[in-house]
Amino acid sequence: MIDLRGLDTLITVLADLGYDTMGPVVRDGAIMPGPVAGVADLPAGYHDHQAPGQYRLERGDDGVLFGWAVGPGSWKAEFFPPTQELWRANLDGEVTLTEPGAPSGPMAIIGARPCELAALDVLDRVLRDGSVPDPRYAARRDGAFVVTAECGAPAATCFCTSMGTGPHADGGFDLALSELSDGDGHRFVVRVGTEAGAEVLARVPSVEATDSDLGARRHLLEAAENAITRELPAESVAAMLARNLEHPQWDDVADRCLACGNCTLVCPTCFCSDVRDTTTLTGEVHRQRSWSSCFDLDHSYLHGGPVRSSTSSRYRQWLTHKLSTWWDQFGTSGCIGCGRCIAWCPVGIDLTAEVAAIGGSDGAVRAGAARAGTAS
Ligand code: SF4
Ligand code: SF4
Repeated sequence: MIDLRGLDTLITVLADLGYDTMGPVVRDGAIMPGPVAGVADLPAGYHDHQAPGQYRLERGDDGVLFGWAVGPGSWKAEFFPPTQELWRANLDGEVTLTEPGAPSGPMAIIGARPCELAALDVLDRVLRDGSVPDPRYAARRDGAFVVTAECGAPAATCFCTSMGTGPHADGGFDLALSELSDGDGHRFVVRVGTEAGAEVLARVPSVEATDSDLGARRHLLEAAENAITRELPAESVAAMLARNLEHPQWDDVADRCLACGNCTLVCPTCFCSDVRDTTTLTGEVHRQRSWSSCFDLDHSYLHGGPVRSSTSSRYRQWLTHKLSTWWDQFGTSGCIGCGRCIAWCPVGIDLTAEVAAIGGSDGAVRAGAARAGTAS
């Protein structure tokens, strides 16, 4: 167990070891990743309210540091920046290529949610461990130290339980915190995930957790699980969507969808990008990579025009890739159940509701549900 001073020390130890310490901060009215130098920078007393198309942050006086679910910014942006220069070329006489230097130091993430660890695992499969690794992502990710904060305050938009990604953390962390604030004080159960985590924790004042502390952690996580009502049947949905590529629901959702791409930008696992070259009048060429979205018309542009010109085809591409063909490509779902795309969709489109609408008229799903009903 550590207390608030212990958490402060933990951040200082990580900074002394040369890590850029990052954690949740309040920025622009939302919980966002940002630099943290100590506990004073964390969002004490803040709680969020989320619903389809809605996000609101309020400050209470309970002093709880991790009393919120995820905000619009994810850790993806820290490892795979929205815009990044790949190289620049100087054409003065002969061509000279320069690449940007490495980021200042390894990064320590404090307070990532368990579902966000699952999102990083998905990105690792694509950007680090896949057939075409991104060296910038790999370098930043490999050096990172991760402190997760298990979730005691899921939002109404969360569905991590059905995706198997929360609210407790099973792996992917160096240290895991569970925040307790009750009659016994404000404190954190700490679990060690790696040798590096054990070495860091050894430099922080801590005491043995009591049975009562461990019981309080169990209660926190059970309450969080029971509070989550949304669900998505992670594995069965892949085949169901593949059977329903001509379902009328794609046109129904297209009538509401603005094709704005917000869902892809807030999604912690969407990784599509575009590369552009710009030339200056002084003869320099800059090559930049930027996030891109399958909702953009030119994302599917081949010779002669876009392959997916209708909004229904673009929404279908997003959902079927994320929930269905991602399994074929990467052996996992592309969704970790964080609910960001539900809260940050300006018209409140909820992928769990769209999947339920399609699955509700799917013969195989209905038959499967009936069999499950008989068995139970
Ligand atoms: S699809 Fe939506 S719920 Fe799933 S990981 Fe992306 S933002 Fe989160
Ligand atoms: S589903 Fe919502 S957030 Fe995504 S493109 Fe359509 S309107 Fe925008």
